[in-house]
Amino acid sequence: MFDKILIANRGEIACRVIKTCRKLGIRTVAVYSDADDGALHMRMADEAVHIGPPAAAESYLVIEKIVAACKQTGAQAVHPGYGFLSENRKFAAALKEAGIAFIGPNVDAIYAMGDKIESKKLANKAGVSTVPGFLGAISGTEEAVKIATEIGFPVMIKASAGGGGKGMRIARSADEVAQGFSSATNEAKNSFGDDRVFIEKYIEQPRHIEIQVLGDKHGNVIFLHERECSIQRRHQKVIEEAPSPFLDAKTRKAMGEQAVALAKTVNYDSAGTVEFIVGPDRSFYFLEMNTRLQVEHPVTELITGIDLVEQMIRVAAGEALDIRQEDVKLDGWAVEARIYAEDPVRGFLPSTGRLVRWRTAPESDDIRNDTGVVEGSEISMFYDPMISKLCAYGKDRDEAVSRLSAALDETWIAGIGHNVNFLSAVLDHPRFRSGNISTNFIAEEWPNGFAGTVLPDGRRDAMLAVAALVHVRNEFRARHLGGKLGLPEWQPDADWIAFLGKAEFPLTLSDAEGGCDVKVGQKGKSGGKALKVRSAWKPGEPFFRGTVNGQPVVARVAPRPDGLRIVHGGAELDIAVRTPRAAELARLMPEKLPPDMSKYLLCPMPGLVVSIGVAEGEPVKTGQALAVVEAMKMENVLRAERDGTVKKVNAKKGDSLAVDQVILEFA
Ligand code: ADP
Ligand code: ADP
Ligand code: MG
Repeated sequence: MFDKILIANRGEIACRVIKTCRKLGIRTVAVYSDADDGALHMRMADEAVHIGPPAAAESYLVIEKIVAACKQTGAQAVHPGYGFLSENRKFAAALKEAGIAFIGPNVDAIYAMGDKIESKKLANKAGVSTVPGFLGAISGTEEAVKIATEIGFPVMIKASAGGGGKGMRIARSADEVAQGFSSATNEAKNSFGDDRVFIEKYIEQPRHIEIQVLGDKHGNVIFLHERECSIQRRHQKVIEEAPSPFLDAKTRKAMGEQAVALAKTVNYDSAGTVEFIVGPDRSFYFLEMNTRLQVEHPVTELITGIDLVEQMIRVAAGEALDIRQEDVKLDGWAVEARIYAEDPVRGFLPSTGRLVRWRTAPESDDIRNDTGVVEGSEISMFYDPMISKLCAYGKDRDEAVSRLSAALDETWIAGIGHNVNFLSAVLDHPRFRSGNISTNFIAEEWPNGFAGTVLPDGRRDAMLAVAALVHVRNEFRARHLGGKLGLPEWQPDADWIAFLGKAEFPLTLSDAEGGCDVKVGQKGKSGGKALKVRSAWKPGEPFFRGTVNGQPVVARVAPRPDGLRIVHGGAELDIAVRTPRAAELARLMPEKLPPDMSKYLLCPMPGLVVSIGVAEGEPVKTGQALAVVEAMKMENVLRAERDGTVKKVNAKKGDSLAVDQVILEFA
């Protein structure tokens, strides 16, 4: 066994690998760029080696620097994590050359599976079912249209060297093939330096289900069941679970056996993932094999009890697998939500800045939090904007999903845009709960983007009752601060009116042991819902933890100039609890309208202007491309939302813009 391992990665995955090394008594070496000086992974490791400037191309991706860091520290093996050099065969070969073990599969397996066209050919040979399509690089638009017509629409155009959801287009007509072919080719050339593109059938209502495999250097390969990763945006995963609510035992076994057969054809000797796309009739087709540890591996660990990183290290050291196929458990359910610094309101664009607040549910037997940042860390533009992978375990799907949803209620992130409310909205969505999902789930349920969620009436009423208790405690505190405020005598039992935005809810409160009893009514109607709120919450605490009618409730509470904000279940509720007299006055307050910005094209994220597509005085049509802005290595095309005429152009190519900076003004 090794006694020192270098982790050629950063962030949460570096931290996660270090945890297993510690458990095994192996010393660790971190590498870090200038941007990661002082980062969590660097502090967790026993030693750390500086490898250069922030840009990955000059640090984490430079093979020579990693090899040199191994030599300098005497590390005998390297775990590459995911991304970066994890699927780079030159890296694996360079390590081999230097006599350092690569904690991943053999070089030939990486090579064979690194290319989507070649790996599909191999899969075909191994008897694995593949998506119908044309297995070759396509030379031009004409050929693309011809092949697409033969396959039958819709089709998927894909970069053979692709990854991370890049270089992929769906086409439903010959026109779309022509368009998609050129944009996929360009994206492939820019992202991967390889413009080979192929075409396959687009599977409608697809579900993404993948099989975790594990092999050793002695010819043993087993599968550790599946993960379903159908909740995606931009062909990238956000919520994953194991097992899949869609598979029956027979399909699971068939997919597992095909995955093992494929792994065996390349003498696979590490942890790897065989990805399948599954149709509504449970027909399944091979997509690609990822020859590394997958981002979402924790859900598999939670249901099988197997530490995948430990297994990778053991097999890299030459040990034979000591788990037999029949010993692999499938126990309970696990769900993972990827918490990203990104803005779901603005098309999931990455956001950057300082994590001023970062709190979440404490880790336990049922909650796992894989993170690489702490409060105060910077989410920079240089790397993947992931903050954490929050996972919950339960005896069944309902329990796991409910636990994860509750853990998100306990999550507080401030300082940067994030997707926590969006994740809550997905987990609490009735369609998600029913398990009736596909990779189109997000696009279908939020066709115009996510602009916040509305709680069902029951949960909303519970939050109004929570607001009432919070208000009572705040008022009580205000009256006991030295008695200088001259407020009228405190009346705990009283009638109040809660304003939720403009909607009004009459509340009748009565003091009770450990909280209060609240009747939440509706304006103009008699009666109401009786809710018992109990909590030890004290003014100033950021989280309300307690019960409503005996049910545990966690909500984040923040003061506002006129009332409070409660964040719960993905919703942000601005609530003001008022006396009947204050309510009368509040109704008379003039409403403040936000300024009309429809005559401006604003920059949706901090970024660099790649091009401006229009000139002053030019008429534009709805949907026309107005400007291209690059942020986090992604080009974002900004389009006209309605017909109009450009009055003024405020930015030019090469400008670096802040969020909401005005790019164009319309007449
Ligand atoms: P997974 O299926 O594990 O989510 P992905 O293929 O989406 O795997 O990639 C995992 C991570 O690896 C991404 O978050 C990204 O950081 C990185 N990655 C993978 N492929 C690429 C690529 N071609 N370009 C840039 N980053 C990539
Ligand atoms: P990447 O290397 O970027 O991970 P994949 O081939 O694994 O590329 O595809 C990523 C995602 O794109 C899948 O999870 C799925 O949502 C979608 N996808 C890919 N191929 C197809 C297809 N033939 N039909 C339907 N969806 C597909
Ligand atoms: Mg994939």
